[in-house]
Amino acid sequence: MNVYDSARMADVMAPVGYVATDVADDADLVILNTCHIREKAAEKVYSELGRLRPKKEDGTMIAVAGCVAQAEGDEILRRAPYVDLVVGPQSYHRLPKLVADATAENKSSGRSRVVDTDFPAESKFDFMPAVQSSGPSAFLTIQEGCDKFCAFCVVPYTRGGEFSRPVEAVLTEADQLVGNGATEITLLGQNVNAYHGDDQGLAGLIRKLANIEGLERIRYTTSHPRDMNLDLIAVHGEIPELMPYLHLPIQSGSDAILARMNRKHGADDYLKIIDALRVARPDIALSSDFIVGHPGESDADFEATMALIKKVEYAQAYSFKYSKRPGTPASDMDDQIPEDVKSERLAALQNLLNQQQITFNEQTVGSSIPVLFERRGKLPNQIVGRSPYMQAVHVSCVDAAAADRYLGKIMPVRITGAFANSLAGNLDDEVVAETTKMEPARA
Ligand code: SAH
Ligand code: SF4
Repeated sequence: MNVYDSARMADVMAPVGYVATDVADDADLVILNTCHIREKAAEKVYSELGRLRPKKEDGTMIAVAGCVAQAEGDEILRRAPYVDLVVGPQSYHRLPKLVADATAENKSSGRSRVVDTDFPAESKFDFMPAVQSSGPSAFLTIQEGCDKFCAFCVVPYTRGGEFSRPVEAVLTEADQLVGNGATEITLLGQNVNAYHGDDQGLAGLIRKLANIEGLERIRYTTSHPRDMNLDLIAVHGEIPELMPYLHLPIQSGSDAILARMNRKHGADDYLKIIDALRVARPDIALSSDFIVGHPGESDADFEATMALIKKVEYAQAYSFKYSKRPGTPASDMDDQIPEDVKSERLAALQNLLNQQQITFNEQTVGSSIPVLFERRGKLPNQIVGRSPYMQAVHVSCVDAAAADRYLGKIMPVRITGAFANSLAGNLDDEVVAETTKMEPARA
């Protein structure tokens, strides 16, 4: 979501003369778009700010955006007084005015301290210009915030209450993205499947999006098991554009810990959803988030998580040590788990997940898979894309012209090698021959 937000910030700043640059030294304004979900992410902001500080001497303006800005606005100005501007995730449509205010303050007093961490009554989305550009695979935020208040999580405090964008606004933005070259759209939300901007919820929105010509792949993330309704499960079997991959976090396999987390679902509820998804779309690849060492997690609770992972067999997953977040109920629970126990559990869990990921990837060797190529790789003439199952796929092309030609396209790839985090393959021989034949005509 921060990637999406950063792109929108660039769009908002374009009319007042700003363009994005990859080189920090060229920048007149640096915006750090930050994440507060775990302590490590939040702490990184301060080390990054320290690194940027010398740039102030060249007159560069420094802004902090995102959830750390929201949660620690004043603390940021205390710890890094050279920051000019702090803007929360719901206020960045006001960036042009905030930057102008900070510039004026700097001129008059040599120092600015502009802070906007409101939850404005207006929706920032209503003030956003049309999407300016897009790669082959684009993000589109359709829902923000959360009302679920899991005991460990800061999201309801930093992003605010649950909000869905109206279906018309989403369809308009999807059209803009496809018009700008997107072939794939990933719908985003902290609780994306709680989307209620359409009468038929997320299922209804996906059905409508599937009618957009040129939009060949649809994904959505992140979902909550409680909002995984039967209609949405059915859409996985019904809409070919909806990719056979779902990130559905469970956090823990122990009912006792799920209750302490205030997740309002048990391990069995989750397993039933997985079964139903696999009936609807037998090849669906599954992913999850896991937290180890949540307060109160016993060895038996942890083993229940390991047992659940073995049952589901994930294609990939994200896993984290529980991180205490200020102001959340779990941070005040007495039975906090020692760091070394958390580390041990995380290592065991990641080992199991890695094995499952390799097994999943190895199953694809020898088969032909449609890959959407998104970017050039590190090697000469190499291109990288994603399989329907979200695997990164690397392919070497005969020359640079071929590599450019395939970027943004979906091509069948024969998979020749599987690794922990990616696949290698060749463009199907026939396809290469076809395209080569077509070449003189095009030239
Ligand atoms: N809405 C999604 C999750 C959004 S937060 C859901 O309910 O599943 C993304 C992930 O960060 C969570 O799934 C969780 O695994 C992790 N996370 C959130 N708070 C955390 C904390 N305090 N410590 C460790 N991991 C955390
Ligand atoms: Fe956080 Fe997700 Fe729980 Fe909401 S549902 S509180 S975003 S973990």
